[in-house]
Amino acid sequence: SELLSVEGIDAYYGVSHVLHQVSVNVNAGEAVLLLGRNGAGKTTLLRTIMGLVAAQGARIRFKGRDLLGMAPHRIARLGIGLVPEDRRMFARLTLRENLEVARKAPMDAAEADVRRAGRDRLWDVARVLELFPALRELQDRKSGTLSGGEQQMLTIARTLMGNPALLLLDEPAEGLAPVIVQTLVQQLLRLRAEGLSMLISEQNLAFARSLADRAYVMENGSIRHQATLAGLDADPVAWTKYVAF
Ligand code: ATP
Repeated sequence: SELLSVEGIDAYYGVSHVLHQVSVNVNAGEAVLLLGRNGAGKTTLLRTIMGLVAAQGARIRFKGRDLLGMAPHRIARLGIGLVPEDRRMFARLTLRENLEVARKAPMDAAEADVRRAGRDRLWDVARVLELFPALRELQDRKSGTLSGGEQQMLTIARTLMGNPALLLLDEPAEGLAPVIVQTLVQQLLRLRAEGLSMLISEQNLAFARSLADRAYVMENGSIRHQATLAGLDADPVAWTKYVAF
């Protein structure tokens, strides 16, 4: 069943027209890849879905609700979580404080039921530390002193505290050592196995291919190609044209 559907979206930064008639969809439980060179528009698309860039166009729907024009905090409450490329966090707060800040204000019972829908239990500090055991002993460290890999785990952990049903990950492997990337893949696979859906912008195909079923290829703000990863492997023309950049 369809979780997210983006249909014919255009987006602008001032007068510069960045996204052109972009359509993508993500089904429940699916991990979908956005491939493309620097500047192709991947970040802009993720930020548009989150309501951080104003879009014009047909529609963006999530769980049957129309998102176009909705404020980012309302989109987050509906169940979309963005893990930004720059791993923005409160550098002078401790790791644990960063997690606590990300916890949403207490929900009433009705909202908790809606947010829990389809999920066993809501995320809390104990549960994110179970997923990222490496963060456990770093809880009192100032976030600004963490390594790149630790900061990436914290960024994902913090986003999970919002109990998303769909995770938008913006180049999560960027700048990380291969051994850290392998750990990250295992953690994201675990989240997938628990039913979390993902839209992952990535240039590191070695990282992304074990996570995703399907890929869209972006170029100059448009979707140029879409295929399953197996399909891309079996299609040398598309591979050379879109992936081996
Ligand atoms: P990267 O991997 O570098 O993040 P990307 O595929 O995510 O690349 P975007 O960051 O979405 O691409 O950029 C798409 C286009 O929009 C680029 O031409 C970029 O220069 C432009 N752009 C991005 N942010 C802004 C901004 N704040 N103001 C103006 N133009 C921008």
